[in-house]
Amino acid sequence: MRYSSRREAILRIVQGTQCHPTADWVYSEARKQLPGISLGTVYRNLKLLSESGQLHAYEGAGGVSRFDGCVTEHYHFRCQRCGVMVDVQEPVDRELDRRVAERTGLRVNYHVLEFRGLCVYCQQNGTESVTHE
Ligand SMILES: [Zn+2]
Ligand SMILES: [Zn+2]
Repeated sequence: MRYSSRREAILRIVQGTQCHPTADWVYSEARKQLPGISLGTVYRNLKLLSESGQLHAYEGAGGVSRFDGCVTEHYHFRCQRCGVMVDVQEPVDRELDRRVAERTGLRVNYHVLEFRGLCVYCQQNGTESVTHE
């Protein structure tokens, strides 16, 4: 299979899930479609796809990146216990960019906002202890 087809397959895998997968997750899915694909190939293509703006990459705990096939600006919530990352349906606050730009003289293009806490599953299971990054 051609290199570009593998890249398209990887892009479709990330776009086809809401789970903001890690490279390892993408690799296990990709292997179902492309037997023999290597983890290195998956990493390389994820990097190229995020550099070209077709995916977004978010740095997470321990340097593990999570990938997002939805590249329109949106907010995230990340669970402090299990690390799950979900989209938050909340309008992006353009006013914040404007206020910061006005006060600091910096040119703000956009901002990244991530809420932290416990997901519904973790609230219902186990203790209240959380990890801090
Ligand atoms: Zn959780
Ligand atoms: Zn997202």
